[in-house]
Amino acid sequence: SKTQVGFIGLGNMGNPMAKNLIKHGYPVIATDVFPESCKELQELGAQILDSPADVADKADRIITMLPSSPNVIEVYTGPNGILKKVKKGSLLIDSSTIDPAVSKEMAVAAEKMGAVFMDAPVSGGVGAATSGKLTFMVGGVEEEFTAAKELLSCMGANVVYCGQVGTGQAAKICNNMLLAIGMIGTAETMNLGIRLGLDPKLLAKILNMSSGRCWSSDTYNPVPGVMEGVPSANNYQGGFGTTLMAKDLGLAQSTATNTKTPVPLGSVAHQIYRMMCARGYASKDFSSVFQFLREEEGQ
Ligand code: NAD
Repeated sequence: SKTQVGFIGLGNMGNPMAKNLIKHGYPVIATDVFPESCKELQELGAQILDSPADVADKADRIITMLPSSPNVIEVYTGPNGILKKVKKGSLLIDSSTIDPAVSKEMAVAAEKMGAVFMDAPVSGGVGAATSGKLTFMVGGVEEEFTAAKELLSCMGANVVYCGQVGTGQAAKICNNMLLAIGMIGTAETMNLGIRLGLDPKLLAKILNMSSGRCWSSDTYNPVPGVMEGVPSANNYQGGFGTTLMAKDLGLAQSTATNTKTPVPLGSVAHQIYRMMCARGYASKDFSSVFQFLREEEGQ
């Protein structure tokens, strides 16, 4: 039978991802700072422990799915962190979207303990996490990629090797900058069309058969009533939080600054998502930028 896999961070994404590992026959040992998020997994037979160190004491393959860089630093290098009790030869895979510089630091710290750290952020959202169809962008030593892929393919349809540690994050940050720009563009375009008297469903249909088509228009439309089964159909609950998108755009900005790369639309997108966080949209899905633009009207 398969040996146990550790999973740390059972939020919107981690919960369905860990469930897919269980479905594929891996016994899961998990932890989360928020006990409520462990309930569902415990009912499916996962063993729940108190800290990342306890998980590392039992499992030599661990996946982490945490909000942002400070949480990853704490879970790996904190007083009850993975590296306090990690076994030699362990494979540590971080699927959070964080600063690639932090991924590199974690890899160095893990190596000192005789373990291997890889970054493997995901694209796809909660729907893809649930159906096991995520895309994983993997950075780290190439010899470990096969071992990482064995686990990641239980949760994803695409597992892509990107290069040295941190390059998975680089690919993810680029994707999300384009996603944010595309979502704002879709929201303002749909709003203009509505103001010009077009039916939003018809406008979406036309965009989706024309050159303006993008993921935000055809798979995740931000206008309520255009599509079913997306956050805009459910008062922008669930999905990918505005705070997380603002974080990813901040990562894009700092990496762009460090490499002297001009990203003018990425900058504007970052400011818009930061304003939304300050105006009560923090925990709504990022497609609520449509609602935000409607509120700005007539001001
Ligand atoms: P989330 O906030 O729903 O879940 C994060 C979980 O980590 C929470 O349950 C939290 O309690 C736990 N946590 C935080 N600090 C911890 C600690 N010190 N020890 C143990 N557990 C801790 O976030 P999410 O939506 O699942 O996203 C996770 C990551 O995946 C983020 O980096 C995000 O940017 C990225 N991501 C999210 C989506 C999406 O659609 N939600 C899509 C792609 C990538």
